[in-house]
Amino acid sequence: MSHDSLPTTPLSLATSDALFTRAKNHIPGGVNSPVRAFRAVGGHPVFMQSAKGAWLTDVDGNRYLDFINSWGPMILGHAPEIVLEAVRGAIGNSLSFGAPTQREVEMAELIKQMVPSIEKVRLVNSGTEATMSAIRVARGYTGRNKIIKFEGCYHGHGDSFLIAAGSGALTLGAPDSPGVTQGVAQDTLTVPYNDLPAVERTIAANDGQVAALILEPVVGNMGLVAPAEGYLQGLRDLCTQHGIVLIFDEVMTGFRLARGGAQELYGITPDMTTLGKIIGGGMPVGAYGGRQDIMDNVAPAGKVYQAGTLSGNPIATAAGIAQLTYLQQHPELYDQLNRTTTRIADGTRQICRELGLNYTVNQVGSMFSVFFTDQPVTDLESAKTSNTEAFGRYFQAMLHRGIYLAPAQYEALFVSTAMTDDLVALYLTACRESMREAHGL
Ligand SMILES: *Cc1c(COP(=O)(O)O)cnc(C)c1O
Repeated sequence: MSHDSLPTTPLSLATSDALFTRAKNHIPGGVNSPVRAFRAVGGHPVFMQSAKGAWLTDVDGNRYLDFINSWGPMILGHAPEIVLEAVRGAIGNSLSFGAPTQREVEMAELIKQMVPSIEKVRLVNSGTEATMSAIRVARGYTGRNKIIKFEGCYHGHGDSFLIAAGSGALTLGAPDSPGVTQGVAQDTLTVPYNDLPAVERTIAANDGQVAALILEPVVGNMGLVAPAEGYLQGLRDLCTQHGIVLIFDEVMTGFRLARGGAQELYGITPDMTTLGKIIGGGMPVGAYGGRQDIMDNVAPAGKVYQAGTLSGNPIATAAGIAQLTYLQQHPELYDQLNRTTTRIADGTRQICRELGLNYTVNQVGSMFSVFFTDQPVTDLESAKTSNTEAFGRYFQAMLHRGIYLAPAQYEALFVSTAMTDDLVALYLTACRESMREAHGL
C-alpha cells in the first residue's frame, strides 16, 4: 500500500455519515468537543479509525495527510513506536493506583529540566484543569480577585475564561457562554492582544486588584498570531511592577516552539506556566507550575485546594515521559520542523500570490495559519476580517483531496516530524487546486 499519494476519486463518507446520525441521538451535537462538528465549514465530521505517522485513516478507509495532529499533541506524528512501547510496558502493572508512583517524580524532573522557569509542578488531566488551577493559585497567592486575559486567547472551558474566548467559542459565535455567572464574568478583564497601552490602562483602572495576567505567548486559538516585538517583555515588566502573576498558557506552544516552549523562544520568564497537549503524548495530561514561592501555596503544601483522582496516571505519564524524553534528546528536530513548516507557509503564500489572492499566512515554528484576508493578522479584530465562507469551500476541497485541515478558520495548523518534503509537495499541489476551486479560478 502506497502512503505517499492522495486520492483521485471523490471520497465516500457513508460510514462516517451513518455514525454521525447515530451520534446526534446520544451526544450533544454528535461530538464530545464542539469544533469537531464541522459547523464552521459545513458537511459532516469524519470519524477516524487509525493513524500512523503523517496519515489518518477514517472509518470508510479514506486516507488523509493530517495537519491537526490531535490539535497539537502528536508532534512526532501518529503512533510513534517509542511512545507505544512505553504504554505497552506500563499497562501490565495496572492502569491506576491513586497513590504516588516513580514516574510522576521523573515526569516532574523532566518538565523542570525542559522549562526552567518551573520550580515546582502539579500534574492534572487536561489543559482546562491546568489553567483553572493556575488562576486559583495566583488568586490565593496574591489575595486579589481579578484576572486579565486577551480577546481571542483560549484557555480551556473554565468559567473565568469563557469571556471573549477564541477557537471553538469563536466559531460558535458564543464567546460569552450561558451558564457563566455575572459574578465570575466581572472578575475577568479582557483586552485586545498585542496592545500594551490597553493593558496598562486596565491595570491602572483596577489598581491593586489584579491577581494574574494570562495569555498564549504565541496565540494559536484565533488562528496563529505572533506577539509583536517587545510585547511579551512589556507584559513581563508591567506584571513585575504591579505584583501581578504572569501566566504563560503554553498548553499549545509548550514543547512545540522549542523544547522549553515560547518562553525559551522569546527569552521571557513567566511566574507560572500551564502545559497540556504534547505533554501527554496523546494521553490526557496537563500540568501547571512555576515559582516555588507561588506553587508552595498548593495543597497539601499550602491552602489552595486542587486535586485529581487520576492525576499523574501511570499510563499517561509513561506516554508523556517517552515523548518528552525524545524531544529533549533531539533538539535538532525543532530546526527540521521549522524548515518544513517554513516551506509549507512560503509555498502557500506563493500559490495565493499567483492566484491574485493576497492572503496572510502566519507562521511560528511548526504552527501556521492561512487567513483568508489581505490584512496583516495581529489580533482578533484583524483575524475576523477573514472570508470564512471561502475558507469553508477551501476546507472541503482540501478534505476531498485527502488533506485534513482544522475545520475552522480560527485555528492553527500543526506540523509533525513525520511531514517529509515529498508530503509537503503533495500538500502544495492540493492547496493550489483547492484555492482555485474555492474561488472559482
Ligand atoms: C487546548 C488548549 C487549552 C485547553 O486544553 P484542554 O486539554 O483542551 O482542556 C488551554 N489553553 C490553550 C492555549 C490551548 O490551546
